[in-house]
Amino acid sequence: VWENCLAFIKDNIQPQAFKTWFEPIKPVRLSEKSLSIQVPSKFFYEWLEEHYIKLLKVALTRELGEGAKLVYVIKMENTYGNREPFTEKIPSANRGQLMPQEMDVPIKSKNPELKNPFVIPGIRNIKIESQLNPGYNFENFLEGDSNRLARSAGLAVANKPGGTSFNPLLIFGGVGLGKTHLAHAIGVEIKDKYPERTVLYISAEKFTQQYIESVKKNTRNDFIHFYQLIDVLIIDDVQFLSGKSGTQDVFFHIFNHLHQNGKQVILTSDKAPVDMQDIEQRLLSRFKWGLSAELQSPDYETRISILKNKLYRDGVEMPDEIIDYVAKHIKSNIRELEGAIISLIAQSSFNKREVTLELAQQVVEKFVKNTKREVSIDYIQKVVSDYFEMDVATLQSKTRKRHIVQARQLAMFFAKKYTKASLASIGSQIGKRDHATVLHACKTVDNLAETDKQFRKYIDDLNKKFS
Ligand code: ADP
Ligand code: MG
Repeated sequence: VWENCLAFIKDNIQPQAFKTWFEPIKPVRLSEKSLSIQVPSKFFYEWLEEHYIKLLKVALTRELGEGAKLVYVIKMENTYGNREPFTEKIPSANRGQLMPQEMDVPIKSKNPELKNPFVIPGIRNIKIESQLNPGYNFENFLEGDSNRLARSAGLAVANKPGGTSFNPLLIFGGVGLGKTHLAHAIGVEIKDKYPERTVLYISAEKFTQQYIESVKKNTRNDFIHFYQLIDVLIIDDVQFLSGKSGTQDVFFHIFNHLHQNGKQVILTSDKAPVDMQDIEQRLLSRFKWGLSAELQSPDYETRISILKNKLYRDGVEMPDEIIDYVAKHIKSNIRELEGAIISLIAQSSFNKREVTLELAQQVVEKFVKNTKREVSIDYIQKVVSDYFEMDVATLQSKTRKRHIVQARQLAMFFAKKYTKASLASIGSQIGKRDHATVLHACKTVDNLAETDKQFRKYIDDLNKKFS
């Protein structure tokens, strides 16, 4: 049976992929409609699962008819002396960051004779293999000044993956500004336009876990090999790789291979490349090969259209006054913006009453309090200016008067310390300076803190106001 399956599979995929992913598989048992196959590692299983389940399903159904089941048995390196291959159960919770709609797919133990095997009824949608969330698409990624560049770069890449100078495309920006959404949207669009291309979305965290696992299981080469087969690789939150030199190294090689072969790489990060810490220089320089596009905080108009769109899609009506109130009070995070409106929708439908401004105020206040531990750069500038008895315009001015320069440097220092803003964005908000100026300010403050008692006191006083 397995021989026949293999023959069918071989005809349907690249020889190289066949060699890597199907030749190492051993059939171990056949009972009625259930075929057990042994795979070399958990990592191996996951890739089969994610990428070839549909093909396996077709192959198996041809042989065993409707209702065919596939049981994976993972061969484990037995550290206590080599006897029988063990089987390992992978709890569904460990199976990576799957999209919610995938969570329903049951993985259950069907065959009592095998120790913890898991059976996958092979009904999967091809989209799942890419780990893309179709709910994150371009259509519902609303355009505004804050995201126009990134959005159109994303569209350009989606139209011609690997065929633009935006390779890699790096999307960066603060929390909740749409990095993950846009990254998925690009992948979804590519899948739509070029269904035959292999697209893979993966978080840098999951990528790292897989890498570590592959090292443990001695399948590092399989790991690299697999990634080299991908046409469009999307890695979310690459800042997670900071300080992880092994993963950075492997990613560097994969990146080079893909890039040289005209494959598209899309990355997201919470910082611009110049602000990334503990990322190897050679990787940073690769990041800069393509385009870095920032997602900024949405302006008022964009916030309004995001809220209206959300209400429209949910079929809910809400007075303009309320929408306006929410948009005016939640400024720097689209996730919070959505959270607040969802909470309002829920409350109004639960209590079966119109949303009043009062209710909106309560919800917004709760939201801002709960989720907004981060102080804003505006607030920092205000506090520092007040403390030194000057106004914000003076603090931002071009003057080189010593006490004003110091106040400005302190504001930059605290902005770096208490916000997630990039050096470049801090600089531009504090009197249109560049990132080097901010970096210099932070160093100066650090130095003075050690050598100048009076200055130390400024820092301590101000710290109390922010923490
Ligand atoms: P990040 O990855 O940057 O933290 P996400 O991509 O998770 O942010 O976005 C947070 C939420 O805001 C998501 O629900 C996303 O759909 C929504 N969102 C972000 N940008 C937009 C946009 N331009 N239009 C509509 N919704 C958006
Ligand atoms: Mg994200």
